[in-house]
Order: sequence, then C-alpha cells, then structure tokens
Amino acid sequence: CGIVGYVGGQNALDVVIAGLKRLEYRGYDSAGVAVLADGGLAAAKKAGKLANLEKELADRPLPSGTAGIGHTRWATHGAPNDTNAHPHLDNAGRVAIVHNGIIENFAQLRSELTDRGHELLSETDTEVVSHLLAEAYSSTGDLAEAMRQVCRRLDGAFTLVAVDADAPDVVVGARRNSPLVVGVGDGENFLASDVAAFIAHTRDAIELGQDQVVELRREGVTVTDFDGEPGDVREYHVDWDA
Ligand code: GLU
Repeated sequence: CGIVGYVGGQNALDVVIAGLKRLEYRGYDSAGVAVLADGGLAAAKKAGKLANLEKELADRPLPSGTAGIGHTRWATHGAPNDTNAHPHLDNAGRVAIVHNGIIENFAQLRSELTDRGHELLSETDTEVVSHLLAEAYSSTGDLAEAMRQVCRRLDGAFTLVAVDADAPDVVVGARRNSPLVVGVGDGENFLASDVAAFIAHTRDAIELGQDQVVELRREGVTVTDFDGEPGDVREYHVDWDA
C-alpha cells in the first residue's frame, strides 16, 4: 500500500522507516524493509503495525546502509503474515523487491519459474518479480535494464521498487497504473508512492509517467520507458504543508 526507497548519505533504514510512518494513514496489514550494506542485503518484515517491525529491528538490528527500500502491505494475494509481507527476495538473497498493486499473470510466471528450479516461498503475486529480476540482472548486469525486461512481461497494476546487493548504489523503480514519485535531493534521492514519505527531506519532485522505469543514484535520476527510451516526466515543487 505504501512504498519508500532511498539512496544517499543518511542511514537508509532511518529514512525508510520515517517515510513509512508518513504513509501509515493509508492503512496496511504488514511492513518490511531491506537495506544494502557491507556488500550484502539485509531485510526484515513483520505482519501487523510498524511498531512490530521496529521491535523486530530492535531485537535483530540491520547493518546501517546507504540504500534501502520499505513497504506497507495491503494484502491482495496471500494472508497478511510475516512470509507474505514484503520485501520479497530471490533465492540467493541478493535482490529485494517491494510492490503495490496486482500482477495479474503471476500464476503463469510462477509455474515457469518453478520449472526453472526457483523455489517460491510466499503466496503473493509479488514474489515472481524478485526471481525474474534476479535472472534478468544476472544476464544484463544492469538493474534498470533488468527491471525494464521484467516489466515487459508483467500484466496488471504495479509500483515496483528494488535493490540488488551487486548494485550497491542503485535503487530502481517502475510503475504502471499505480503511482511512483521521485524526491530529488542534494547527493541523495528518494522514491515513494506518495510525496508525503519524503517531504521532510525535499520538496522537489518528479512524477513518473505511465510505464516508466527510474534508476536512482546518489547524484542523479534516469527515467526511461519500458523499452529504454528517455521518458517524459513532470517535475514540480511540493508547496503544500504536510
Ligand atoms: N498484491 C501484493 C500482495 O498482496 C501487494 C499488495 C499491496 O499493494 O500492498 O502482497
């Protein structure tokens, strides 16, 4: 239901959790985070309120990283439990993905992946995306290009945000029929399903258009369509008080 992504010099986990809190008003049944740190990826997720996730993080702290993603879930496929909460990882634990919306052709993608030896652990429509993205990244070595390839295979409505431990300075996002906004900072950049998640940090925003992929790095933001052509975006300044 809510999505946050961050890359920059602050502690990514703190920025992501604070962002998720700003989205809590939308309602949700579970929450989770993933951060890139020390060449690896660490994730935590819990059914229930953000307070449950924060307790889990207090009991089992994650390393402090400079890129991270977070999610509050409103379940559509699979019960609201810890396993079905986002992020979803690939089997190697290198890719993490969060998703708002519904992947309509997930059953077919799921059986293709199972046939290729992937082990899917949740009941969600989302989990196929982490496995597809890991496959595409291992053949392209470019996370944004991998995301474009995967999006071309998806039907439905989605905001997707992902990280890969082998691309430690990058967060990628994609959208179709579901909102995704970039917050442009100074040496740091933000992604969110709603500007409320990042206006404590920046009010310079870029609203992604339909069927676009964004690659977020500390020093820049690149937007393309699903075929890799430069994407038209709407840049604006958020001037309301939140
Ligand atoms: N369809 C996904 C799920 O059930 C995402 C739900 C959401 O938008 O939060 O896990």
